[in-house]
Amino acid sequence: MSAEQTPRALRHIIAIIGRRNAGKSSLLNALTEQDISIVSPEAGTTTDAVAKPYELLPLGPVTFYDTAGLDDDSSLGQQRIKSTRKALYKADVAVLVVNEDGLGSFEKQIAADVREMQIPLVAAFNKCDKATLRPEDETFCRENNIPYTVVSALENKNITRLKELIIAAVPEENKRPIKLLDGLVEAKDSVILVTPIDTSAPKGRLILPQVQILREVLDTKAFATVTQTEELADSLAALKDKPRIVITDSQAILQVDKIVPPEIALTTFSILFARHKADLQIMAEGAKTIDRLENGDKILIAEACSHHAQDDDIAKVKIPNWLSRYTGKKFEFSFRTGSDFPENLEEYRLVIHCGACMLNKAEMNRRLRECVRRGVPITNYGIAISKTQGVLERVIKPFGL
Ligand code: SF4
Repeated sequence: MSAEQTPRALRHIIAIIGRRNAGKSSLLNALTEQDISIVSPEAGTTTDAVAKPYELLPLGPVTFYDTAGLDDDSSLGQQRIKSTRKALYKADVAVLVVNEDGLGSFEKQIAADVREMQIPLVAAFNKCDKATLRPEDETFCRENNIPYTVVSALENKNITRLKELIIAAVPEENKRPIKLLDGLVEAKDSVILVTPIDTSAPKGRLILPQVQILREVLDTKAFATVTQTEELADSLAALKDKPRIVITDSQAILQVDKIVPPEIALTTFSILFARHKADLQIMAEGAKTIDRLENGDKILIAEACSHHAQDDDIAKVKIPNWLSRYTGKKFEFSFRTGSDFPENLEEYRLVIHCGACMLNKAEMNRRLRECVRRGVPITNYGIAISKTQGVLERVIKPFGL
């Protein structure tokens, strides 16, 4: 599979930021050894963030975002800055490109903003063919723990060094996220996956979380039985030995809980993703808020991909109904899809997020951290649904919670 074909969620995101005409586009061309960004001596040529997939070895597939200059204060510039911030929101690492004038208060402010977003920062002092690095800039980088190098995008100088700094800056937990089935399944174990095919299931295929978990079962050299809810009892009876674990679509958890004997471990696809992409403990804690909700509370339901909602849509219909039935109260629901995640998080009493199989770990973690930072409880679909069906304790038990 080429870098272009790797799913977005499995790529690291590197955002290239700085002033207009610091040489960001030329640097991207040098980093990717291609001519894809328009390079112009005129300031502000890059309008929206330009995404370029690249195989940054030994790290793996990455997407570089060549962003618009952050110093454009025209009204169009404000939209560009918004798009740059969006790119930063999903970034594993930000590269601050500095022109021959060195670090000014503008660059120092960007460095502070990026630090506040907890994004690792690397400084690239560009145009080293024209200017030398100032000692005070070196001191600033050292004092602020910012790895840096001088580069010349035009003369292709120190580009390899910059790549090494970028790779080193990617947080270890993003380089090697916990596997979906870590600690749950070993070679030769038998696993049952329950994948209901209802009206909301896509035609002719399984959805990504199911495919990814099936792939991990195969990678682990374990055996998988894939079944619908109606065939689950027969599937269990047909097995010579008890399965190590049953993993089900969250929407079927109530029926599946009744069929699977208590001595067999049971969890959901969505809960596995809560651990893999975010933090299961924080999200399990967040579900406790469901018992404290009051009439009229605002609840945000966020999905990381968009699709046409059916009559029985999980986000718009099923979860709101289950929550109201469980609590006996009425709430105000807001829905967000794709890369749209609100700034005004404090308005919400609870955030319920999907498994986020389409997001990379950096972006999902940033969403989680923003909620924690602003004191807004966050949970996910599988956890919230299990809570409303009275089976939460059972489905988080395999994780020692
Ligand atoms: S991004 Fe979310 S809603 Fe979309 S398929 Fe993945 S888990 Fe489901």
